[in-house]
Amino acid sequence: MAGEKEIKEIYDNGMKILEELTSNAYEIQEQMLEEILIRNAGTEYLSRFFVHGQNHKQNFKANVPIVTYEDIKPYIDRIANGETSSILFADPITQFIQSTGTSEGKPKLIPMTAESFEKRMVKPLLVDLVMKKCISGLDQGKSFYLFFVKPEMETPSGLMASLYTTSYFKTQIFKNGLAKFCTSPIDTILCLDNKQSMYCQLLTGLLLRDEVVRIGSSFASVLARSIKFLEDYWKELCSNIRTGFLSDWIADPACRNAMSSILTRPEPELADLIQQICEDKSWEGIIKEVWPEVKCISSIVTGSMSQYIPLLEFYGGGIPLVSPNCGSSEACFGINLEPLSKPFDVSYTILPNMAYFEFLPVNNDGGGKSREFKLRGASATESSESTNETTTVNKPVDLANVKIGRYYEVVVTTLAGLYRYRVGDVLKVTGFYNKSPQFQFVERQNVVLSIDLDKTTEVDLSKAITKAKLVLEPLGIMLTTYSSYADTSLTPGRYVLFWELKMKGSNDLPKLDAKIMEECCGIVEESFDFTYKSLRKGGVISALELRVVKHGTFDELMDFYVSKGASISQYKPPSCLKSEEAVKILNLGMVGTFFSPKTMF
Ligand code: AMP
Repeated sequence: MAGEKEIKEIYDNGMKILEELTSNAYEIQEQMLEEILIRNAGTEYLSRFFVHGQNHKQNFKANVPIVTYEDIKPYIDRIANGETSSILFADPITQFIQSTGTSEGKPKLIPMTAESFEKRMVKPLLVDLVMKKCISGLDQGKSFYLFFVKPEMETPSGLMASLYTTSYFKTQIFKNGLAKFCTSPIDTILCLDNKQSMYCQLLTGLLLRDEVVRIGSSFASVLARSIKFLEDYWKELCSNIRTGFLSDWIADPACRNAMSSILTRPEPELADLIQQICEDKSWEGIIKEVWPEVKCISSIVTGSMSQYIPLLEFYGGGIPLVSPNCGSSEACFGINLEPLSKPFDVSYTILPNMAYFEFLPVNNDGGGKSREFKLRGASATESSESTNETTTVNKPVDLANVKIGRYYEVVVTTLAGLYRYRVGDVLKVTGFYNKSPQFQFVERQNVVLSIDLDKTTEVDLSKAITKAKLVLEPLGIMLTTYSSYADTSLTPGRYVLFWELKMKGSNDLPKLDAKIMEECCGIVEESFDFTYKSLRKGGVISALELRVVKHGTFDELMDFYVSKGASISQYKPPSCLKSEEAVKILNLGMVGTFFSPKTMF
């Protein structure tokens, strides 16, 4: 699957392929499981669970445990250290994919085979096809996508470990397919220096502004960061456009070479125009002004990325925000078949040929307070006697048996060594497209703030902050991004929120009125659940603290995580911080601190 013929086949027949996949979702899933088990039953890992006298599927459902990364890590480490990958799966391993896995930026190594990799490469083409079908004019120009790579790492076995996107951008299918419709030259995407890469990609996007019909990045955080970069560098970018010379600090030879065929002559009129737009104090609608032909902004804006929706809407000035797909390094889950649905209503449709999917029910509130799964295969799941909500054990259901309106944690089985593997994401089923479930992304499991018995999840926090920031909006103040941590260094402990605020019309720091900020603290606490409030009332948790940080502080946080190994293109700002260093970075940007009233409940 590398040639132009295959790409053409997808563009010609992609909608038919999607109809067939979704109409036969259950059959495809069953075949897939069968195939995975036939191929891998003899591996050291699976054979431990297979009991003689039962067929593969019975064995799988009854005996194979539901696991997390930590459970299979010993096998992965053995492979990374040079043992044969056949201890875990039959097909030859080609590489590892590095996953950020958690929102704390600690990479996991996910094995990959040639077949799994190729299968996955079809997804971006299908996404592109659906978008072009639903948004008119998208096929009439270029996409200004900000894509980045991260250096590969060699494991002791000699196998390479890289981000999925880094590997993907190096493939022929990308180079012959989507890259042809992107403004960024491939060498600027593949440049390992993210700053030079960003500068050249922005410069190209500006030079080709009239051709740009779509702007985007994989995650919304990256696009927000790119706009901040434009704020910092527009004068220099305009100067390059005016003179026709690329800044000297762009030293990467491949970048310089690529840019030499784009920045070919002085374009003072274009430079004046961009300068005029960027000089405006307010950047409201800047995307529309700089790129007048843009039909949509494409970037994942669900889950923890939803905090960027107001910011991107502000910069977009009415351009639709499209959240195209949902997946992870372990497997692709689904794509958005209705790209123009509102960001908060986005549902993704499961692609049943990407993995064998199972779904672990979690509490209806979906707030991550999922029941504790002490799972060791279905036999264990069926023997639950506990009636306690937090210890109830649940049985996973397959794709055909999910219920609309229910919340599930997704579990995947793949051809590349993941068997009943908990990805860690919670989804809410919203409907079916043909026979394939559609879901909303809810949150990452286990991202919680907790001092005592309280458990405040990513979603709880997001809901509370969404309410509180309504107080700031009439004052023209924007919350651009946030994070939090549970401060237990003092007794009693407290929740600490970090908010980066700016004025709507400019990047100036708003004048912070203590009364209003305290009101925000109060609204946040008021929104938390009964357990939190009782503990707070009982003095087990002390008043919530809100630390306001200056514009750009969260960029420093991103730089920190990138320096620790996270990739810029897969960066997800943590909504709950666990790292002391990260807290220190945000504290350095602090310009004000506020507390809820001491007694509130
Ligand atoms: P990584 O393996 O580093 O690419 O991280 C994958 C994780 O990103 C997933 O497990 C999700 O937690 C998150 N993610 C991916 N797609 C989406 C999406 N559409 N909405 C929200 N979060 C997402």
